[in-house]
Amino acid sequence: MSNSQGFATRAIHLGYDPLDHEGALTPPLHLTSTFAFDTAEAGGEIFAGERAGHVYSRISNPTLDLLERRAASLEGAEAGLALASGMGAITAVLWTLLAPGDEVIVDETLYGCTFAFMHHGLRKFGITVTHVDMTEPETLRAAMSDRTRVVYFETPANPNMRLVDIEAVAAIAHGHGAQVVVDNTYATPYLTRPIALGADLVVHSATKYLGGHGDLVAGLVVGRAEAIGEIRLVGMKDMTGAVMAPFNAMLVMRGLKTLSLRMERHCASAQTVAAWLEGHPEVAAVQYPGLESFGQHALACRQMALPGAMIAFELKGGLEAGRRMMNGLRMIARAVSLGDAETLIQHPASMTHSTYSPEERAAHGIGDGLIRLSVGLEDVADILDDLDGALSRTVLRDTA
Ligand SMILES: *Cc1c(COP(=O)(O)O)cnc(C)c1O
Repeated sequence: MSNSQGFATRAIHLGYDPLDHEGALTPPLHLTSTFAFDTAEAGGEIFAGERAGHVYSRISNPTLDLLERRAASLEGAEAGLALASGMGAITAVLWTLLAPGDEVIVDETLYGCTFAFMHHGLRKFGITVTHVDMTEPETLRAAMSDRTRVVYFETPANPNMRLVDIEAVAAIAHGHGAQVVVDNTYATPYLTRPIALGADLVVHSATKYLGGHGDLVAGLVVGRAEAIGEIRLVGMKDMTGAVMAPFNAMLVMRGLKTLSLRMERHCASAQTVAAWLEGHPEVAAVQYPGLESFGQHALACRQMALPGAMIAFELKGGLEAGRRMMNGLRMIARAVSLGDAETLIQHPASMTHSTYSPEERAAHGIGDGLIRLSVGLEDVADILDDLDGALSRTVLRDTA
């Protein structure tokens, strides 16, 4: 199967021919920790990297290999690496690229555990973490120093939906010899391919849309083969050991087969839900890249094939009204995570982003009243019906 085939075809077929595996339509699951060598000499050669082959499943495994090749192809990258979780991917990348005395520049808004890793992990080891507002790329230019090794951001950012112009930021970072790492979890490669826009490495929480069914925790990183090889041997094998289990790789590959279909449906429903929320009298603000009122709508149209399926919104009654609305929902689950078939709702300030102090949340643009909605694959009429019921019950109690 070649890389010239379409996205959906590669997500289903790339790198696997059933006729090489006794006709088995789906790839075999290689549940093995270690691999037998032909001869002692062959083992030595595989260890030395002089001969292709597997050694031990913390380094590589054939089931993970296939997922890594498919993820790389879908992102338009040379190579991929599967890890135990999104945080496993992010930490393996940064431990590999950074050393004491180096600086990493990050956007103002980061996923809560990424923020915690930067502030409580990297800083403990003498690495400088500097936040800049990457929605204004010129502020990045002013902040770059000769110690800046990595520029890191999410687009759209979790949870407030800020977008970063990948091409503009990559041009500035490369001008100073820094590497660009993009967390593409929210957009997925179906909507945005950061490598083509200049990113060096792309990380994913495959727990979210790539897996897509809320039944696993997994991470991926893709980029140039040499960089991925180094992250495999340093960040993963030696430093974090955050290897993905083969069974999870198989589940992520099952998810990838329907990624294009799911994203079409997720995004179409999210557009409908966002427009409905924007028109609701109890809703104060809606952040969704597909709305014309969205501050970076033009960038969204340029950088994203579709506007995604994550929505951030705030009620006029603020945090209290938001909590009551969430408690009034009957179908939509109050849960963290995103990208599942089920619509999920959560309150970042007390949940995913409680790793920030209240002062940090205020400084980093994460409002206390902000509600995050991951629009699922149910009939959109039922999603609207649940939101409508919860909002009208919230309002009724206000006036009672
Ligand atoms: C969930 C998430 C992560 C962390 O991924 P895990 O698989 O939970 O470790 C990182 N970045 C973003 C944007 C996320 O939403």
